[in-house]
Amino acid sequence: MPNEGRSKLDSADLNRVLRISGKVRSVFEKYEQKEGLNEAGGILLGNVAEDYVEIMDVTVPNRFDLGNFFSFVRARIPAQLRINKAWKKSSGSKIYLGEWHTHHEVKPSPSLDDRQMIAKAFKETKMEIDFLYLIIVGLNGTYWVGKQTGNGLIKVDNFEIS
Ligand SMILES: [Zn+2]
Repeated sequence: MPNEGRSKLDSADLNRVLRISGKVRSVFEKYEQKEGLNEAGGILLGNVAEDYVEIMDVTVPNRFDLGNFFSFVRARIPAQLRINKAWKKSSGSKIYLGEWHTHHEVKPSPSLDDRQMIAKAFKETKMEIDFLYLIIVGLNGTYWVGKQTGNGLIKVDNFEIS
């Protein structure tokens, strides 16, 4: 991944915009948690540039994941295999950027479990970045986007969806 002489790509740069590709947006739309559907989710994959982070790909629920109306627990091993594959295929430019899941809410916000999950993922991740994103997909095209760093989870408003 790009590295301009820094040991880590720092998240202090708040001007780095989060971009969500059109392909990813259509996946989010497809899995929107309408009445009677279970929560869905997966991982975020993409690249980090000097002035933006782009989510290019996401994984979708597989048969190892556990989804019900109130929660989504992602199975660890299939996701890790997908991360490794994406990394290899992109020569190291497509990396793990965080987690996403749906909520049956018009104004989605993270639950306590969500906060603990992303904090844990951040602690355990062994990537060159010092942040992870959490995207919660609400109803009717609504989103809650947060960035987890060593200082906690903060809501992100500067994101672009194509
Ligand atoms: Zn949640």
